[in-house]
Amino acid sequence: MAQATLSIDLDALTANWRALDAKTATETAAVVKADGYGLGAPRVGRALARAGARRFFVALAEEGAALRAELGPGPEISVFSGHMPGDTDMIGDCDLVPMINSIDQMLRHVEALPGRPFGIQLDSGMNRLGMEPAEWAALRDIAMEQNPTLIMSHLACADEPEHGMNPQQLRAFREMTDGLDVPRSLAATGGVLLGPAYHFDVTRPGIGLYGARPFLNAAPVVQLDIPVIQIRDVEPGETVGYGNTWTAERPARIATVAAGYADGIHRIMGPKTVLFAEDVPCPIRGRISMDLIGVEVTELAEVPETLQLLGPGQGVDVLADNAGTIGYEILTGLGQRYHRRYRGG
Ligand SMILES: *Cc1c(COP(=O)(O)O)cnc(C)c1O
Repeated sequence: MAQATLSIDLDALTANWRALDAKTATETAAVVKADGYGLGAPRVGRALARAGARRFFVALAEEGAALRAELGPGPEISVFSGHMPGDTDMIGDCDLVPMINSIDQMLRHVEALPGRPFGIQLDSGMNRLGMEPAEWAALRDIAMEQNPTLIMSHLACADEPEHGMNPQQLRAFREMTDGLDVPRSLAATGGVLLGPAYHFDVTRPGIGLYGARPFLNAAPVVQLDIPVIQIRDVEPGETVGYGNTWTAERPARIATVAAGYADGIHRIMGPKTVLFAEDVPCPIRGRISMDLIGVEVTELAEVPETLQLLGPGQGVDVLADNAGTIGYEILTGLGQRYHRRYRGG
């Protein structure tokens, strides 16, 4: 079998949720948008619910409807994109809580689903989603009469603790919400780590659950083992892969493994990235292809059946650095071709 195996450690996932929960005195929700950051929202959601998470956030109502089918009634499922045209049946039937982003969404919600729960999303400076201060000032009294279940906003720079944007957004959020008798939420993973002033009533970690920065003490959740299809010896002067970008300077042994950029292993990470045979790092040689990668295994006495791209030797954040991106993009880019194997949970 040439299919690579993406192992997902649900015990590490729930340990990360508990560790982030232990950093606050308030409720810890779980963000499982984008298919649980690429790891599989059904299994991730069920494991977190069993671990005690009672509130989940997704980006789209469609994601919320699918999650409701997995979790059954009970856990609160909130939708960041709010109440869009066409969402009403999903929100109503699947008991979703839209985070209302505008006066238009507010009108749509109270007209289509009067009395049904909703939250409010405010823009405290990121200029992405949520009501602006002036819009909120105009709507606030009417909205409060409808008893929102949560008021939230999102930090733009929480992964940089010293950034002046953090206290600025905190001030803006407080100015818009102080004195209102509604639970509040400002912190994602980065905000949890900024300290109690940012915690309010509900925190919304995502990336930290999945084992990546900025939660530096996170337990690693993913491991990726890629089968070796073929091994060959090359002479000095021979090249490997498309474009002849690597030339052997001495006799070398090359293993061809069965994954590539179609599986989220971006070409740009090739030059800095290794695969591990136990604890021996084996460098990528030549360009990463769509489905194949050349790896130099000259140093190995014996080439194992699989080489490891993600694991103890090289985590999500290292791959992100090698690709000039962030762990979020590595995780959500992991392709659909892997055999996803779940452990624990
Ligand atoms: C994605 C997202 C989160 C989770 O953020 P992490 O940095 O992954 O913890 C929380 N809130 C909102 C609004 C988001 O879009």
